[in-house]
Amino acid sequence: LKETDGVVENQITVCVRKRPLNAREKNRNEVDVVTVPTKNQMVVHEPKHKVDLTKYLDNQHFRFDYVFDESCSNETVYRFTAQPLVKTIFEGGMATCFAYGQTGAGKTHTMGGEFKGKQQNFKNGIYALVAADVFKFLCQPPHCDKNLVVSASFFEIYGKIAYDLLAKKQRLRVLEDGKQVVQVVGLTERTVNKVDDIMDFIKKGSLERTWEQTSANANSSRSHAVFQIILRRANTRQLEGKFSLIDLAGNERGADNSKSNKQTRIEGADINKSLLALKECIRALGKKGKHCPFRESILTKILRDSFIGEKSRTCMIALISPSVGSVDHTLNTLRYADRVKEL
Ligand code: ADP
Ligand code: MG
Repeated sequence: LKETDGVVENQITVCVRKRPLNAREKNRNEVDVVTVPTKNQMVVHEPKHKVDLTKYLDNQHFRFDYVFDESCSNETVYRFTAQPLVKTIFEGGMATCFAYGQTGAGKTHTMGGEFKGKQQNFKNGIYALVAADVFKFLCQPPHCDKNLVVSASFFEIYGKIAYDLLAKKQRLRVLEDGKQVVQVVGLTERTVNKVDDIMDFIKKGSLERTWEQTSANANSSRSHAVFQIILRRANTRQLEGKFSLIDLAGNERGADNSKSNKQTRIEGADINKSLLALKECIRALGKKGKHCPFRESILTKILRDSFIGEKSRTCMIALISPSVGSVDHTLNTLRYADRVKEL
């Protein structure tokens, strides 16, 4: 996929990004089994054993709106995924972009920004790229005279509980009123006047989240992170539009075996449930009469207003490792992504 290729305007966009083999995979002499023959196609060359134990390859073909190979930058991925959705929130709609895939496949690298060692360059993550474009739009007519204010929230969903990443991980309650309006009670929503303000919150929230990776209780791969950019009328605070950017929990738990402990199994079950509900809710988007099971999980409950309305648009970026050792997870990820859009 080249920077100059055309961008398609879809209500639901589904694409896949393949990362390069990492040092650990190379050290183990694992090979790259994923090829990208065209900008829409991906082939997984799955090694199989015949009865006589000679190996053969089972080539599994997939087609998506876009396929990004390991040469693509975050900026290129952004141009084809979240960027076309920015205008949606200025037109009274909801925009949502998900990063889905196995732990280590590149979700945080794509959403939060590229890693250089342990340091993360937050400037080229999709969070920051969306924020920059939102401020660009605000200065352009006709949006500049609409009297709009921008605010941001950042929270994490771990198990059945949401935690505020902009308020020292304070526990948040998710409530639904009689009119099916879902509220995250107590969630910090900070008004921002320029991109730098929003960058501060992206850094603060991201560090709050990943800090735990080094501590005993690492849970960032088992939680969904939700970063939201909200547009409101300055005088009435009425909601104009919302862009939700979600770094989903690792999807590998479904394949977890009996060796995992009880806590891990409960977490896995919660993650599975939310990812299944999410798939159904995206599939219901824009289809009259199709059921959206948003009550099935906290994630889908909170995103309910993003799954309704003709003006809402969604993009899913599935992330995969190219390595032969991850082939089962990769196929699971690609099948899920495929189902999100299948009619
Ligand atoms: P996840 O959030 O899905 O668990 P990460 O985003 O943390 O995975 O990525 C795991 C590692 O792989 C990180 O060190 C990251 O920098 C690296 N990585 C991921 N995607 C790419 C890519 N497209 N190019 C280079 N390195 C990548
Ligand atoms: Mg991550």
